[in-house]
Parts: sequence; structure tokens; C-alpha cells
Amino acid sequence: MNGRSVGRRSRVAGDVTSSVELPIALEEHRRALTRCRRCRLPAGCARPVVSESLVPRGMLIGQAPGRVEVDDGRPFAGRAGRTLFRWLERAGLDERAARHRLHFAAVTRCYPGPSPSGRGDRVPSPAEQVNCRPWLDAELRLLRPPLVVLVGRLAIVSMLGSQPLRDVVGEAHVISHAGVQSLAIPLPHPSGASSWIHQPGHAQLLEAALARLAGELRRLGIVGGTEAGVGVRVA
Ligand code: SF4
Repeated sequence: MNGRSVGRRSRVAGDVTSSVELPIALEEHRRALTRCRRCRLPAGCARPVVSESLVPRGMLIGQAPGRVEVDDGRPFAGRAGRTLFRWLERAGLDERAARHRLHFAAVTRCYPGPSPSGRGDRVPSPAEQVNCRPWLDAELRLLRPPLVVLVGRLAIVSMLGSQPLRDVVGEAHVISHAGVQSLAIPLPHPSGASSWIHQPGHAQLLEAALARLAGELRRLGIVGGTEAGVGVRVA
């Protein structure tokens, strides 16, 4: 699933429709995901962390939960989450609104354990990513989100294909899935273990990405709009 970047004026056709079935389908999906033990993970790791959003208006895809997220039961509950929510707040969504209006997905949903290097968490293996992809695909089919925020290299590569982050952060990209087009906005990973943000020019790319995200959140009514509207549909 490769994306193509779009200019600032480009639009993805979309309309928001209500659906009484969506919360039920999403809840069934959550229950099934919570029971998943498809990967051979160490004891204590194979406990999927699942988004709590009830009326999602868009989607956010991260890498994988960490230890803190498993204990808390919510995605991005730790230090990286605090940085992420500071970024999202600058784009117009505080943490409460972000958790309410965005469905938090991830490339893999279980804590992969610590990195062998001792710095940060282990990157989920290719096999684990393949095992977990059907959960993400199911959510994309259910939600058909007009906007997808991609957080970190793994999420970016999984949706846009392999390319340097500096070439994609700061741009919006059209992605296609299940016959639906979404606008994808990549952000670097907020983990302190990532040095990307500290490299020359990258802070400016993050600023550009947040400005673009703020514009799309307003345009799609995810901020400054109503709380109503359960389903999101892109024509
Ligand atoms: S990482 Fe994904 S596929 Fe693997 S056990 Fe956890 S939920 Fe299942």
C-alpha cells in the first residue's frame, strides 16, 4: 500500500455518515482482538492493547505498545505518549479529544519486549507484523477513516512503503485501502529512543507536519466540528 503525496490544496473526497452498526461492530472487533494470541510472545507480552475510542472520526497508527501501555491498558500511555499528545494539542486536539475522536491502532498490538540493545522496545518482527496486519485491515475497512495519522517509521513504512522519513514527514499522502482513499499524515516517533527529531532540519519537518495536520483536522471537522457522527466514510 504505497501513498502519493498531495499538494496543500489537494482534497480527498469525503462525507461523514452515521451508522448505528459501527459501534457494535467495533466492540465485537475489540473483543476478538483482545483474545488474540497469534504470536509466540513471552508471558505478559501477548496482551493486546486496544483503542478505547467510541466515536472515532479518524485513525492514528503507531508501532506497538510498551510495558506502560500494557499496564495502563491504553495506547500511548507512557512518556512517548506525553510527547505525542503535546504535538497533537498543537494541532488542535488535546489528549481527551484525541482519544475520543481518533481510533488508536498500531502495526502490532502486543508489547514486543525490550530491545536486545537495551535502548527502548524491540521492533516487532516481520512475522509479528504480518500476523497482526489483519486487525489493522479490519479496522480500516470498518472505519474507512478520511484521515490517518502515521506515528513512527514502522507505521509509515507499513502504509506508504519504504522511504526516508525526511521525504514523507511534512507532506500529506493519499493512501488506498479496501477501495477507500484516506489522507495520511506521517509524524516521527515521539519516543526518546528516536534520534530522528534531533537531526538537522527535522524539527522544521515536524512543524510542517503539525501545521498540515491542524489544517486537515479543521477541514474534516475533527476539530471545530460536532461530536456527533459515528461513522466516517470516504466516497
Ligand atoms: S501482536 Fe497482534 S497478531 Fe500478535 S498476538 Fe498480539 S494482537 Fe495477535
